[in-house]
Amino acid sequence: MKITDIQFGRLKVPLKTPFKTALRTVDHVEDIVVIVNTDGGHVGYGEAPATAVITGDTHGSIVEAIRSYISPRLIGQDIANLNHITHLIQTAMEKNSSAKAAVEIAIYDLWGQLYNAPLYQLLGGGDPVINTDITISVDYIDKMVADSLSAVERGFESLKIKVGKDIGVDIERAKAIHAAVEGRALLRLDANQGWTAKQAVYALHALEDAGVKLELVEQPVKAHDLEGMRYVTERVHTPVMADESVFGPMEVIELIRMRAADIVNIKLMKTGGISNAIRIADICAVHGIECMIGCMVETSISVAAAVHVAVAKAHVISKVDLDGPSLCQYNPVDGGVIFNDSEISITDAPGLGIREIRGLEKEGAALKWSA
Ligand code: MG
Repeated sequence: MKITDIQFGRLKVPLKTPFKTALRTVDHVEDIVVIVNTDGGHVGYGEAPATAVITGDTHGSIVEAIRSYISPRLIGQDIANLNHITHLIQTAMEKNSSAKAAVEIAIYDLWGQLYNAPLYQLLGGGDPVINTDITISVDYIDKMVADSLSAVERGFESLKIKVGKDIGVDIERAKAIHAAVEGRALLRLDANQGWTAKQAVYALHALEDAGVKLELVEQPVKAHDLEGMRYVTERVHTPVMADESVFGPMEVIELIRMRAADIVNIKLMKTGGISNAIRIADICAVHGIECMIGCMVETSISVAAAVHVAVAKAHVISKVDLDGPSLCQYNPVDGGVIFNDSEISITDAPGLGIREIRGLEKEGAALKWSA
């Protein structure tokens, strides 16, 4: 099974409600779809969103990185040589983690098809059913409480609460949601870099003293402030999780060396795809550090890939934040991973099992890449 060419498409799906964090507001998914064709007629699919404020990747940069740097190295490569191909992708250029992720996802999809097995089975197997949390966007307190209650009604048992806007209001947000859903859902607080280290310690002590039990607090301080992450981790009881602070295995090793966080959030768009996500899970497992697997605002192509990794590495990836598909108004993908609100399951279809992508605009003269 040899790679013959790589094509692009664009997939746009409106969200049920706007996704609001301390960094940005998004009201629809608009992602690049990567289509890897092979000589035997098998097709692999990958996907990447533009997350300029997190990874630096834009639609234009993703397409250009793949078209000019990654794709020329891959044409003619045999899918059976998976490790060689992922090495070619990872060393094609610096950074550009989302472009690398999109291509790797399509390659692993084909690798599963080559051996006629669902990807998670080739990655080591596992129980193909997992449960995800759902994001509660940062908003007025009453709105966040209402959104939290409706998520619990839909069966979500973990809520990812976005804060990081105003420290005083953030504390009240967490207290109000805790009071509304106490005993029915675990609370994960994601500050998206919105606090200083001292503010984070102040807020977490206030919440701990008020009896608000949080499962974890995510990325309280700026991405590059590992000292700040350590400052918070040393001073609060609530487990601290690193998200924007860690992209690839090197950053994870440094984070562990510094004891700057208790948990690592793996996202394929930060790691550059599946090969490094697996490395990070293995590094964390060796050090006894738990992982979450998360996603950007993505649909069920790239999120499906994350689900396969989560199942195969469930012994270390103990927390799942793959709510991209459940934030969308509809699922454009007919595939091997079934997203049913909080419950996600994998069928026996080979690879990622993608049969159809509705509304996919294939690359052509009319398709322009926006930021
Ligand atoms: Mg986060």
